[in-house]
Amino acid sequence: MARGRKARSRSILISDSPRLGAGERASGREIFKRGNDRIGDEPLWSGKESKDISAQKECTGAQLRKHIDATLGSGNLREAVRLPPGEDANEWLAVNTVDFFNQVNLLYGTLTEFCTPENCPTMTAGPKYEYRWADGVQIKKPIEVSAPKYVEYLMDWIEAQLDDESIFPQKLGTPFPHNFKDVVKTIFKRLFRVYAHIYHSHFQKIVSLKEEAHLNTCFKHFILFTYEFGLIDKKELAPLQELIESIIVPY
Ligand SMILES: [Zn+2]
Repeated sequence: MARGRKARSRSILISDSPRLGAGERASGREIFKRGNDRIGDEPLWSGKESKDISAQKECTGAQLRKHIDATLGSGNLREAVRLPPGEDANEWLAVNTVDFFNQVNLLYGTLTEFCTPENCPTMTAGPKYEYRWADGVQIKKPIEVSAPKYVEYLMDWIEAQLDDESIFPQKLGTPFPHNFKDVVKTIFKRLFRVYAHIYHSHFQKIVSLKEEAHLNTCFKHFILFTYEFGLIDKKELAPLQELIESIIVPY
């Protein structure tokens, strides 16, 4: 059963895309540019003043989205990850964080009928790595849970960060918090674990679904972005070290 988690839009949900669409990439910032032609979208803010803020924000978000789409369309992932000249680094991290969350959500969503508590009683990444869940707030002592439960906790936690306006501000001029990059780093560390589990436990299924090219492209983009901004500690990347080296070495 697909979990039906919706693509994030940071404050508006756009389309429910449980399967991988043909090149469709849902993103939080994208909504500012494309919101008007989607069904069911609600304006971000009501009232005159907020509307103006929304319009300004629209420019930043739309421009960055345009840049991402253009560079990805050129097939040059190494170029696509770089901070566009003159753009705000935090805004760039924010836009891409939402994108990567949506990608992992869609990829994992195609596996939910296979990644079950019976098939994956623990959250592993190969024989050597097992993850236990703790969010440091509600669950302080790490608990052993099935892979689907772990991913559910993990994605719920990320959604809560993306929805928290004190971390991912929506309004123009609202500064990002001082610890913004730390939060982004934790999000990336956790998204990586979903990739690690998919590659180690479900790659054959991915192949049979003919999704391996898409998975590899998403992961390559994710890793190049991670390296560009130093987002994940090397030891965390160990479960997929060989694959990562094949991406990074030619870099
Ligand atoms: Zn699994």
